[in-house]
Amino acid sequence: MRYLVIDLKKARDHLAQHWDPLMKDEYTWPCPECGEDVHQLDARCIVCDVPVVWRNSPVWRQRYGTSGKVEERLRATPEDDQWDAITDYLFRKGNRPGRWFPNVGLMDKWFKYKDVVPVNTIVSLIDNYNGKPHALVNVVVNQVAARGRRKAGNVVEAEDRSVF
Ligand SMILES: [Zn+2]
Repeated sequence: MRYLVIDLKKARDHLAQHWDPLMKDEYTWPCPECGEDVHQLDARCIVCDVPVVWRNSPVWRQRYGTSGKVEERLRATPEDDQWDAITDYLFRKGNRPGRWFPNVGLMDKWFKYKDVVPVNTIVSLIDNYNGKPHALVNVVVNQVAARGRRKAGNVVEAEDRSVF
């Protein structure tokens, strides 16, 4: 899957004497594709919806894992995989045509756990949802995250932490 790389070291070199170490976690960088500001907590550009990997950013790594591992996973993800289809399905059922997550935390969870939970499990969570339509995305993504954490989270996260 195509993704964009932003390197905090390059940002530091670029800013040279204007670089402020105390602001390290706050710096944003223009999306290489569309120029929109990308924050270090972002997993995707909010405008072009392409996955973004921050290299050498402690806050990004804390949230998503080491950039090398994430890039490996993204490279292994086919461009036109079930992710797009399942995300479309989630948003269609949740009545959110713009594919906007209600908040960034949910988007992060979806991005982090969608590969961990089998697609047919996600589809059945969506199909079995019987609450109010506008809450579907929220509820289902949290269910997926809970299953993902139970399934692989413990092992993967413990391993990741030791790398920091
Ligand atoms: Zn962009």
